Amino acid sequence: MTKVGIPRALLYYQFYPMWRTFFSHLGADVVVSAPTTKSVITTGSSRVVSETCLPVKVFCGHVRSLVGQCDYVFIPSVCSLEKGSHNCSKFMGLPDVIKAVVPNCPPILDPDIDLAKGKRGFYLALYHLSRPFTWNPLKVKAASEAAWQSHLTYRDLMHNQGLVPLQALAQMGLEPEPDFHEPGPATMTIAVIGHPYVLFDEYINHKLIRRLQGMGVRVVTAEMAGEEDLALSLKKLAGRAYWTFEDEIVGAGGHYLERNVDGIISVVAFGCGPDSLMIDLLQRQARKVPTKAYMSLTIDEHTAEAGLVTRLEAYVDMIRRRKNSV
Ligand code: SF4
Repeated sequence: MTKVGIPRALLYYQFYPMWRTFFSHLGADVVVSAPTTKSVITTGSSRVVSETCLPVKVFCGHVRSLVGQCDYVFIPSVCSLEKGSHNCSKFMGLPDVIKAVVPNCPPILDPDIDLAKGKRGFYLALYHLSRPFTWNPLKVKAASEAAWQSHLTYRDLMHNQGLVPLQALAQMGLEPEPDFHEPGPATMTIAVIGHPYVLFDEYINHKLIRRLQGMGVRVVTAEMAGEEDLALSLKKLAGRAYWTFEDEIVGAGGHYLERNVDGIISVVAFGCGPDSLMIDLLQRQARKVPTKAYMSLTIDEHTAEAGLVTRLEAYVDMIRRRKNSV
């Protein structure tokens, strides 16, 4: 059976169930790279210039780990997912970057996804993507429909059942059950916002969500808010979306500033151009709401676990004292 490798990085956390279902329905065997480790980051970092954002370095390391494990690697060039906003340029150039920096990389399945140009181009891209597996358009159509259904189920688990991606993937039988827990009744609620590939890769963020839960915090993320609410908040703060996925940070930040949460932590990847601009908008807005404690964390491959834990403990302690003094 033809093996298709999917790197466990970047858009994995948003679209893995969809992609997996699509390739499985075409008769492929899907292989996912193992969770991030120090060696994955070191390998990825050694392939690109140091200014590259951390998630792209991690992605390079995951692709490298798939060499020899599969017949193809799936790396779409995602230009836009909706009219009016575009993806960060790193996503668009990802297949070319990987061809240049990962020697012996298996052939790359690299469809151009640009939904701003309409759905016809997207369907054509899917047919081309399916060529190594089938030339039967009916089979491609059936695979696409099953993939979309799988994506809807995944989104529903997060929006309506309040699960984070790792829990939703586990519910769908695609990941082992993460041992996230809320020890006893939570004493405060904190919104943690950032790109899913930073928030849910536990190696690069030093188990941030799990640690907060261990401190008695109920954690909420962008995935638990409705898409319309995020879009509305993004519009209020930024006017319109310039980059796809910025609703995860600015939209979610604006949304939770107006909700019953005690604080907001934004987690930004070092070297991320879009975030550095958009997070400033959010910080300015957060200053106008002094009742919500706001903290920004920047993560890179050198972020020390002890330093991060100290900051989290101090932050949670500050909120606890503030609540107790009211
Ligand atoms: S949005 Fe930021 S973190 Fe994500 S790939 Fe682009 S530069 Fe990197």
